[in-house]
Amino acid sequence: MSNLYCGVDIGGTKCSIALINEKGKILDKIYTCAHVDKDEESIIQMLVGNIREIISRNQLKESGLPGIGIGCAGHIRFRDGVIITTSNLKGFKNYPLREKFQSHFDIPVIVDNDTNAQALGEYKFGAGKGFDDMVFVTVSTGIGAGIIINKQLYRGTTGTAGEFGHSIVEPGSELTCTCGNRGCLMAHACGLALPHLFEKKLKEGKKSTLNLPPNFIMSRMSGQVLKQGLDMGDPVSTEVIAESGYYVGVGLYNLFQILNPPLIVLGGGLTNWGDFYLNKIKSTFFDLARDMVYDPIEITISEIVGDAGVIGAAALTLD
Ligand SMILES: [Zn+2]
Repeated sequence: MSNLYCGVDIGGTKCSIALINEKGKILDKIYTCAHVDKDEESIIQMLVGNIREIISRNQLKESGLPGIGIGCAGHIRFRDGVIITTSNLKGFKNYPLREKFQSHFDIPVIVDNDTNAQALGEYKFGAGKGFDDMVFVTVSTGIGAGIIINKQLYRGTTGTAGEFGHSIVEPGSELTCTCGNRGCLMAHACGLALPHLFEKKLKEGKKSTLNLPPNFIMSRMSGQVLKQGLDMGDPVSTEVIAESGYYVGVGLYNLFQILNPPLIVLGGGLTNWGDFYLNKIKSTFFDLARDMVYDPIEITISEIVGDAGVIGAAALTLD
């Protein structure tokens, strides 16, 4: 029988528990939103039950798995698996997530930031196969990075390396980030920023041809709505997407100068904006990098099909 790996992806609105094979393919998955209004202890109990269920319904034994990998959004102290802060889940501040799970299992439990887990998944099973170094960048509700150096995740002292969304790309910016600083990449490019970016264009006098309902709440302006705008040629949607791409390109350029990776892989929901977006990111990057690129650097889209979060979480148990 092939080796199987168990991953748990804990998100703000959904949790996934899955078994994957050594090729990164999901063989079985439990998907739940039932954690949303529960307290910390109830969420742990529920997820422990889900893990036991997926193990038993696949005729496995816990001892047949190398461990349980858990990916969770937020600042995770990797050495002890403590969630320092997370904006996605209520409670869970300075919460010993690994210890809580570990008390229910005899096999090792590994807890990491969800973007780090995704980076590892991409490295093992996706576009990163065959490389020694790469950076994975997710552009979604927020922005984060997972850094692979010499075939290993680089986590930094605490485990918070790759909090790339809080790198500052516009110091004089009027846009404030969720962290409180102005001009973070996230404030200029991520899903949370889209309503502000769209409103800013309207205030500048730009006219949108999107047919938004009269009662449309601007805070609901999403990547999907802008994608419709892009496809129908709405100038405001197009400009917002281009602006996001520009700032992501600036961010990738900074990463390039610090790490000189041969590969940068982009994942996350906003990559659904497609070639227009990717081309804006790349053209910004190469305009800035000019003749300082001495070896090839590939900037590409994630190859992980399906639930990258839970595949990455399971990948934490691979080594
Ligand atoms: Zn920030």
